[in-house]
Amino acid sequence: MVISNRSTFMSPRQVMVSGATGYVAGWLIKRLLEAGHHVHAAVRDPANKQKLAHLEALQADLPGNITYFAADLLVEGSYAEAMADCEIVCHTASPFSLRVKDAQRELVDPAKLGTRNVLEQAKRTSSVRRVVVTSSYVAVFGDNADFLASGKPFLSEDDWNTTSSLTHQPYSFSKTEAEREAWKIAQTQDQWRLVTVNPAFVMGPGISPYATSESFNFMTQLADGTFKSGIPNFGVGLVDVREVADAHLGAAFIPEAEGRYLISAENSSFPEIAQILRDQFGDDFPFPKRIIPKALIWLIGPLIDKTLSRRVLARNVGYPVKIDNRKSIRELGITYRPLEETVTQMFQQLIDEGIVVPS
Ligand code: NAP
Repeated sequence: MVISNRSTFMSPRQVMVSGATGYVAGWLIKRLLEAGHHVHAAVRDPANKQKLAHLEALQADLPGNITYFAADLLVEGSYAEAMADCEIVCHTASPFSLRVKDAQRELVDPAKLGTRNVLEQAKRTSSVRRVVVTSSYVAVFGDNADFLASGKPFLSEDDWNTTSSLTHQPYSFSKTEAEREAWKIAQTQDQWRLVTVNPAFVMGPGISPYATSESFNFMTQLADGTFKSGIPNFGVGLVDVREVADAHLGAAFIPEAEGRYLISAENSSFPEIAQILRDQFGDDFPFPKRIIPKALIWLIGPLIDKTLSRRVLARNVGYPVKIDNRKSIRELGITYRPLEETVTQMFQQLIDEGIVVPS
């Protein structure tokens, strides 16, 4: 079963999307509206018209429609109204920030308690048949060194992150805790099936370019000179936001979809992304031109960026990471576009919107 057959099973449905204002959710909602679905968009503040403007613009042009509901991950029962009558729940909301002061409060609580809140509500909502949770590939491994230590040629859906904690890679820890919680709750019922989508680092143009996602912070840092004297050689899996949306659609609507799906187009690295930008946009921006030696970044990294702790640098720089994406291709029918297209189009959007400015 492939996603191109989607018209055969995608008769209009009511679909709740949590975190509807987010980067990933933007493209998911676009795809749902294109297919004529009724999106129950759960957002923290439906009165914030500025944050919803890009969704309103989509709705004006597409066959589906959106109703907004106020909901907060940390307020128990707050998804009841948004979920009422929905057959499908897509739980994308979770803070994606690497710059936090209190990891428990800012990351783990909203991720884990929020997942519990949404999934327990799904148990109380008799219309729900499928729950899709946006997890991450960081729930599959913690540091790139873990990949090497695994001795496997690729990391797959069978792997779990066992090395992140509140003090080391707390965002990865929050996603791991949340996904474990999701599977635990799924096993307590048989009304709906849980499917998780585990994307690698997501890039590509946003429906709204004013996203809070770390994906945008990273791209902006490449253009603002943060790494002008060199970039650490971090291996990353990368995927286009549009393929992440397609994966959610497949996870939600393909009857046979089950388990976890790693969504990653290419096994890449920070220097490779910088190289694509240099090739496409020349010398207009202070893109990094060289790889910074590991010993040097280990020394100065924490001074450049607080998220670059010495342990993070030691266990990630210079290590590749290889992700097995074959299940997503085989079972969800995902066709991954080339990395160059993803990176170039995202950066062009930042230029067009005046978010990055040539020097
Ligand atoms: P994003 O643009 O920052 O979206 C996060 C969303 O979560 C926002 O809509 C935000 O709502 C919502 N949210 C945060 N705290 C909340 C709370 N307490 N109550 C209700 N909603 C809350 O980030 P994104 O990149 O689209 O991430 C979406 C999902 O994809 C997350 O689960 C993330 O972990 C996952 N993911 C992202 C990447 C990536 O590279 N971007 C990779 C793998 C997985 P507000 O607008 O109200 O703040």
